[in-house]
Amino acid sequence: MLEANWRDSFRDAFKSSRELFHFLDLQEKFNDSSYPVFVPKRLAVNIKTQGKDSPLWRQFVPSNEEFSESEVSGLYDPIGDEIHSKDNGIIHRYKNRLLFSPTTVCPVNCRYCFRKNELAQSDEVLKGKLSALVTYLDSHPEVQEVILTGGDPLIASNKKLKEIFQALEGRVPFVRIHTRTPMVLPERIDEGLLELFRWTSQSFTIFSIAIHANHKDEFDKFVTDKIKMLKQTGAQLLSQSVLLKGVNDSVKDLTDLYLRFASLDIRPYYLHHPDRVKGAMNFYIPLEVGRAIYMKLRDELPGWAIPHYIIDPENGQGKTLAYNPESIKFGGQLLDRFGQTSEIFR
Ligand code: SF4
Repeated sequence: MLEANWRDSFRDAFKSSRELFHFLDLQEKFNDSSYPVFVPKRLAVNIKTQGKDSPLWRQFVPSNEEFSESEVSGLYDPIGDEIHSKDNGIIHRYKNRLLFSPTTVCPVNCRYCFRKNELAQSDEVLKGKLSALVTYLDSHPEVQEVILTGGDPLIASNKKLKEIFQALEGRVPFVRIHTRTPMVLPERIDEGLLELFRWTSQSFTIFSIAIHANHKDEFDKFVTDKIKMLKQTGAQLLSQSVLLKGVNDSVKDLTDLYLRFASLDIRPYYLHHPDRVKGAMNFYIPLEVGRAIYMKLRDELPGWAIPHYIIDPENGQGKTLAYNPESIKFGGQLLDRFGQTSEIFR
């Protein structure tokens, strides 16, 4: 069967709760002007098949729960991006790594997104940001890795992505992409992109693709086949997941997820503790609950399948281990990476 063109799939996606709810036979109303809706049709079919309250449904179908609690306890900028933002899509938080966001557009609107309040619904891609990135890198030789984030960088065309990689070639040895696209718009992994990734894998010491998935039920055959194709380009595949209430907050769900990653040769990387996001507090769980799940997960999985469980505090200090066996041993207090007891752990 002829594969859908990803641009057609992107154009045909459900772009309002009204359209999506109609397709799902859902008699509800949702205020899209607060938090927009975007769900590709192929994904919507899977959501409908898996049913209400399934992990897929909870992650992508808007719910009025997004307005509960959020107003009082959620944050616009839950990980302190603003503190490290340098304009032109650059965030320089860690000395030798830099985030670059070529676009604010995503292939889906995840209801739990930590950038939920920052992402604009524009289609601005690059537009002058690349020359600013090159200038910045030339004056910061300490940067060894550029991490493309967003939005989702795979929404940029193959031509634009090639421009970015060519600008980075010879400037940094490591390049990484963080993406949700293989899981929600797998047709984006077209032959042109695979060819580009083969070139990228050859052109950098390590080219990594961190694939964002939160539940084993996101992996259907089409998705799985595309991930195998990504692997064959020579890229290092990494996992990236968020612990989410009602989606994967059980030892069984996470064990299944990490064994699925392992079966596809995706290295376990980050399991994020949920951020305190305005409009997504319905996915939030307390740190003690997350730590209890993670400690049991470590008993279930072989060491090579265990991710780092981390938290990204709102003060912008960067990723910190959410599980610290040493601090548990020495009195049960978690320390931040500067050795201070952090507010976020209380
Ligand atoms: S794809 Fe990533 S950035 Fe985009 S809405 Fe989902 S979690 Fe947020």
